[in-house]
Amino acid sequence: MSVQYRQLGASGLKVSEISLGSWLTYGGYVERENAVKSIHKAYDLGINFFDTANVYALGEAEIVVGETLREYQRESYVLATKVYGKIGEGPNDRGLSRKHVIESTNASLKRLGLEYVDILYSHRFDHNTPLAETLRAFDDLIRQGKVLYIGVSEWTTAQITEAFAIADKYLLDRIVVNQPIYNLFERYIEKEIIPLGQQKGFGQVVFSPLAQGLLSGKYSSTGVVPDNSRAANHSNFKNKITEERLAKVEQLKVIASELEITVAQLSLAWILRQSNVSSALIGASRPEQIEENVKASGIALNDDILQRIDSIIENEPTLVRGSF
Ligand code: NAP
Repeated sequence: MSVQYRQLGASGLKVSEISLGSWLTYGGYVERENAVKSIHKAYDLGINFFDTANVYALGEAEIVVGETLREYQRESYVLATKVYGKIGEGPNDRGLSRKHVIESTNASLKRLGLEYVDILYSHRFDHNTPLAETLRAFDDLIRQGKVLYIGVSEWTTAQITEAFAIADKYLLDRIVVNQPIYNLFERYIEKEIIPLGQQKGFGQVVFSPLAQGLLSGKYSSTGVVPDNSRAANHSNFKNKITEERLAKVEQLKVIASELEITVAQLSLAWILRQSNVSSALIGASRPEQIEENVKASGIALNDDILQRIDSIIENEPTLVRGSF
């Protein structure tokens, strides 16, 4: 079955259920040839939704993603980037001030070699800038045709609710997408974020859906990591591979094999059971990973399977983000 598409929240935009990101990978630890091949593979498989950020690999990710996507018709893909993270030493080289939002987006467009991005996310909430200033700057970028839709990432329900109130008061464009973490080990968005998304009309594009590769089933013990894997390249992630989590992955593998799918596909299908999730945003260091993961699109898990998964992972959604 080919990849399916979903509406991005209450907007008219259609995005593939599986999307491809570039954090750590493209412009980072994945060499350029594999980065380009992976993006080509994703596009060929029907993935139309690509994600990057101004801070990824200090701008290099935007360069690789932009150069590769420029081979395709602009109308055929949806590209998102982000603003907020520190990109220089100056006091205005970070955050969500009007100055930085406008300057950073112009710099992103230059690196990407594009006239507009489809989505601009605020990468985190900025406690040092009035929310109305940020939302007005985002709205201006929309009026200038440089951004088509706006989103946030890892904002709380209170922050998102306030943003909707300001947008409605001043008739500014509304948030149509939130980008939080969501996977079998981190379910906090189920508690309040997803219900708010359903109520307000924003979709979730969830990052690290495979828990950075842990849910691919390729890690077998805490001590041994495959060469060239993310755990071999990033110790922060390696520390998250615990014996307890590995034991759960082994149990999930049993369910996956009964269904004749892989544990990565099971993990992604579990995410896509949520109708408020617009897309599961994967990373990939090789084209084969995309071939495997994209097949999760269209797999429906029945109640019995979902209950068995629940009893393995044993983690009720928490109110705030947990340790993953
Ligand atoms: P992920 O899909 O959970 O992990 C991706 C990594 O897992 C791959 O790079 C690959 O790493 C491994 N992998 C994936 N599929 C595999 C397979 N079938 N078999 C074996 N290994 C597999 O997602 P993520 O990279 O953590 O995050 C995805 C995207 O979300 C990022 O690129 C970024 O665009 C976005 N993101 C956003 C935020 C935010 O704050 N908004 C934060 C994090 C990420 P190796 O092959 O190298 O081991």
